[in-house]
Amino acid sequence: MDAKTLIKLKKQLLSERERLLNAASSSRKSDFSIATEDLADETDLTSVELSQGIVFTLREKEQRTLADIDEALQKMEDGSFGACEDCDEQISAKRLEIYPTARFCIVHQEEREKRKKFYVA
Ligand SMILES: [Zn+2]
Repeated sequence: MDAKTLIKLKKQLLSERERLLNAASSSRKSDFSIATEDLADETDLTSVELSQGIVFTLREKEQRTLADIDEALQKMEDGSFGACEDCDEQISAKRLEIYPTARFCIVHQEEREKRKKFYVA
C-alpha cells in the first residue's frame, strides 16, 4: 500500500474514532435525562428499560468498532496494516478503502462468515 493511501485511511479512521467518541458522550448525556424522567414517572419504567437496552446494544457495538479502529491504527504504527491475519497476504487497497478495519483478505473473511453461519445453525 502506498503512503498516500495509508495517510488517507489513517485520517478516515481517526475521524471515525472521534465521531464514535462524541456519539458515546452525547448518548451518556441522554441516558442521564432518561433516568431523570424515570424518577418523575415510574409507570413508564418498561419503555425506559427498553430504550436503555437499545442504548446498551449500540454502545457495545460502538465499543467493538472503536477497538477495531484502535487495532488498525496500532497496525499502521507497527507496519502490519493491511495484511490478512490468516495468510499474511496484502488485503487489496480497494477493500481497505471501504473497510479500513478489515483484518482478513476477502477469501478468509468469507471463510470466517461461512464458519460462523455453520456454528449458529
Ligand atoms: Zn487471507
